[in-house]
Amino acid sequence: MMEQDIQEILFSQEALARRVKELAGEIRRDYAGKAPLVVGVLRGCFVFMADLVRELDFPLTLDFMAASSYHGTESSGKVNIQLDLHDDIAGRDVLLVEDILDTGNTLSKLVAELKSRNPASLKLCVLLDKPERRVRPLEADYVGFTIPDAFVVGYGLDYEQQYRNLPYVGILKPSVYQR
Ligand code: 5GP
Repeated sequence: MMEQDIQEILFSQEALARRVKELAGEIRRDYAGKAPLVVGVLRGCFVFMADLVRELDFPLTLDFMAASSYHGTESSGKVNIQLDLHDDIAGRDVLLVEDILDTGNTLSKLVAELKSRNPASLKLCVLLDKPERRVRPLEADYVGFTIPDAFVVGYGLDYEQQYRNLPYVGILKPSVYQR
């Protein structure tokens, strides 16, 4: 069972749902009268983004990107765009949605790339933020929860592609990735 590999539950399903509603409230206010393009960074965004956009009751469109930098539990620092956007974003109000902002390697690369395509605006929304780990000067405009430096899984976040389907966010037992 997956639960045996979890050291501690940080955010329950209920706590996540509450916080996602609050974030959606902020986003709704900020995007009044606009029709943003919400861009998810695969694969970790998929649960958070699905919950978030269903709390947004205004017109929007969706697109996805994928980037790679992680090997196991370590950021490699080298980022590749593996899947690019379907459509041009020039003149669009873009909201980039990611599961977690950690070192900032991935998102600073994606943000720079998207800015170079001349969107009308670009904001960043992350479910989780680990500021202690940052190596690039990058802050998100919307943050669900700030967390300490621990490796977390669930609610879309994986370890070697597993645990994404846990309904909560929990700290993975170090024994799992040390074995
Ligand atoms: P960064 O480039 O900011 O270091 O890392 C961004 C990506 O690393 C995230 O999208 C996520 O895929 C992965 N990542 C960073 N920290 C964690 C973590 O604690 N748990 C999991 N599952 N992935 C993480």
